[in-house]
Amino acid sequence: MKAIGSATLLPMSPRRLFATTNSRCRPSDATWPSQSAWKRLNDAVGGNLIPVNFPLSILQTDPDSTDAKNLAENLRNPYYIGDQPGLTQTLGWVDAWTTHPSVYAVAARNAEDIAAGVNFARENDLRLVIKGGGHSYQGTSNAPDSLLIWTRHMHDIVMHDAFVPRGCGRTVQPQPAVTLGAGTIGMQAYDAVTTKAGKYVQGGGCTTVCLGGLVQSGGFGSFSKHYGTAAGGLLEAEVVTADGMIRTANVCTNPDLFWALKGGGGGSFGVVSKMTLRVHDLPEFFGAADLTIKASSDDTYRRLIREFVSFYSEQLFNNHWGEQAHLNPDNSLGIAMVSYGLDTEQAKEVWKPFLDWVKRSSREYSIEGHLTIGSIPARHFWDVQWWKEHWPEIAFPNPDGNSLKSLFNYSLAHLVPQPIFEFDRRPGAGPTDAWWAGDASQVGWFIRGFESLWLPSSLLTPDSQEQLANALFRGSRHKEIELHFNKGLAGAPREAIDAASDTAMNPAVLNAFALAISADGGGGYPGVSGHEPDVAAARKSREEIRRCMNELRGIVPNGGAYVSESNFFEEDWQQAYWGSSYPRLASVKRKYDPTGLLIVHNGVGSEDWSADGFTRLKRK
Ligand SMILES: Cc1cc2nc3c(=O)[nH]c(=O)nc-3n(C[C@H](O)[C@H](O)[C@H](O)COP(=O)(O)OP(=O)(O)OC[C@H]3O[C@@H](n4cnc5c(N)ncnc54)[C@H](O)[C@@H]3O)c2cc1C
Repeated sequence: MKAIGSATLLPMSPRRLFATTNSRCRPSDATWPSQSAWKRLNDAVGGNLIPVNFPLSILQTDPDSTDAKNLAENLRNPYYIGDQPGLTQTLGWVDAWTTHPSVYAVAARNAEDIAAGVNFARENDLRLVIKGGGHSYQGTSNAPDSLLIWTRHMHDIVMHDAFVPRGCGRTVQPQPAVTLGAGTIGMQAYDAVTTKAGKYVQGGGCTTVCLGGLVQSGGFGSFSKHYGTAAGGLLEAEVVTADGMIRTANVCTNPDLFWALKGGGGGSFGVVSKMTLRVHDLPEFFGAADLTIKASSDDTYRRLIREFVSFYSEQLFNNHWGEQAHLNPDNSLGIAMVSYGLDTEQAKEVWKPFLDWVKRSSREYSIEGHLTIGSIPARHFWDVQWWKEHWPEIAFPNPDGNSLKSLFNYSLAHLVPQPIFEFDRRPGAGPTDAWWAGDASQVGWFIRGFESLWLPSSLLTPDSQEQLANALFRGSRHKEIELHFNKGLAGAPREAIDAASDTAMNPAVLNAFALAISADGGGGYPGVSGHEPDVAAARKSREEIRRCMNELRGIVPNGGAYVSESNFFEEDWQQAYWGSSYPRLASVKRKYDPTGLLIVHNGVGSEDWSADGFTRLKRK
């Protein structure tokens, strides 16, 4: 480790349990740790302390080089980005933040490495950040002049037939579960639990989101309308708190910390090293409904939205249907939904009344492009090899048309010769290193604006549907609105709602039928001259998003927003993200991190710190 030098091993300095100063030090400060101190940390973590470089700098220093071209290519690959301690999946957000590397990273292998990093940061008054998958839209897993705890390499997975949380004895029934290293990403979890073991664990919809960050956000996957939130399935966590202690948190041991980790927001209560999550049975089928309907005028579009709202509330508002509908300014309605537990014929039957209505008005409405309604065996939903064998047209961007017959056994209504997976094509990439093509536009993007709002199920009552449809229409005049039905739990089974009600999330999630999101992002590399994103266009887009969401806020003034998918500039974020849970979260924070070692933007306790997380603010 060149940057750290070769000082001889010295004893660690006496432990300071809590930082005593009100500011964090930077490399330019006299109090910044010496090379020999860093060397001691490196030894303590088994040589896994790494100086962090900033891969984007080559775009500045040698823009025409092959390396610069390779980098630009790799910035479309979330596995490449995830492998870089100095990068994040979002590169920045206009007027909010831009990605910055830490000075050093502990590439942790276990809880002891994490504890060494936490102790070092506390004893030396360093700004500490934690990164798993690096998917934070808010930029909470990077900070300049900081020490990074990086969990990328912690992805061991162990299945249990009958798990009992530590210290619970006979008070808790044994149940099937899986223990995951905190750096496990969705695809790794789905491959082990669904493809290989025929079971289900709640990860994210995006296959490269890391479960460490996901669980602490609350966490929704495509099938959350049936299985509930990721946080609702947490049975136990191993977590290093700000005092450097490795603790177990579950319903019997440190239950207050356990509750806070379930949706209280990542990077605020401790560094999670592993998690044990409930494992569920699979249904026979998972499926999809994918189509776009274009209306001929504003008026007919308004009627289409009204009809869809009514159809949704009668036929889709249940645990079988999740993911999204998109209401677009060009008067089109995009459906990109998934189904749980329905075979192809059952799924087609569900959609028939709505599609018949569309067909009856063929002068006003047309179906654009493909129409896909169908199911596949649930166990193969994330089975990349199965997709390749049964449906290369989908697994690969270049259709060859050879295997339509074998696919026909699982018949979708129409065949879709377009890729749904993209693959990590770097040498040495694993066979399952894939991501949904639908998530590709967010890889290495720069955010222009992003807002969310939970929509309560009361809007689906017959008396309110008109009001909802009108607000959606008005909002869609400004910007696209996405309705994420799997990110509101109304309509989910009782068990899923009960589990989520025992988490720190804003209770608004329990009664919401959907999370409405309006967001936009694009290309460009902030901070790299010649490659800067178009700031004026980004600000314009942010304003359109604000106007769009204001139409929805007009009918839902205090709906709340999902901490992980929301506005960086969220006003009254404590209330929006956590509602009535906030006072309890604040007290857990004071207990486990009294001096604010773990501070993230708009995280619990961050109101006491400057925006950069370096200075404690004086209380007025
Ligand atoms: C393309 C994309 C798709 C997404 N899809 C979904 C979705 O389908 N459902 C959904 O619910 N969310 C989704 N999200 C949001 C995502 O779940 C959250 O941003 C989540 O927190 C990401 O976790 P991460 O570890 O990958 O990210 P990171 O940026 O590494 O971490 C996020 C936060 O958690 C903290 N953190 C990470 N690991 C730990 C740890 N071990 N201990 C303590 N704190 C930790 C970080 O400090 C940071 O504050 C998506 C985000 C993106 C970019």
